[in-house]
Amino acid sequence: MAAFPSWRTGRTIYRQLSSYSLTGLLTCLWLRLRGKSILVTGSCRGCGSCCRRINLEGPQGWLRSEEVFTRLLRDNPEYRRFEVTGGDEQGFLLFSCSWLTAAGSCRQHDHRLPLCRRFPEKSLIFAGGGLPAGCGYRFVVTEPFAKVLARAERGRR
Ligand code: SF4
Ligand code: SF4
Repeated sequence: MAAFPSWRTGRTIYRQLSSYSLTGLLTCLWLRLRGKSILVTGSCRGCGSCCRRINLEGPQGWLRSEEVFTRLLRDNPEYRRFEVTGGDEQGFLLFSCSWLTAAGSCRQHDHRLPLCRRFPEKSLIFAGGGLPAGCGYRFVVTEPFAKVLARAERGRR
């Protein structure tokens, strides 16, 4: 797993950087300079909070307008389960998922979307987001495993 969002060329870099918040960008630079990375630890407690407050990403980045969301639905009809509930403090749209049951579980857990399976992604931090209150996961700053391994190998010589 990459320690940072990978740095590619041209459009991808622009798109990646444009999805960063100022705090996220500074965090990314700080991690790079210190040779650290973000690790996701913990496990899901099944509270359902992350399905009630969702930011969605389209080809041009995080969604800010319902018009863009409507266009996204044409190519991604599976996103029809999401309903706009408002916007966050950064101006991104917030959604809730109609598949969430009153008990806080996913109605079709085996058919949930890749974005649900990937949650929580480290890129959340760089976009200025975070984990919902009470989430069983945590982001911790750590050294990349390759660096720890290299140090251990040096110590054996
Ligand atoms: S599909 Fe299931 S896991 Fe994904 S947001 Fe909806 S309720 Fe949550
Ligand atoms: S907020 Fe965290 S603990 Fe709650 S359902 Fe989502 S991943 Fe699981």
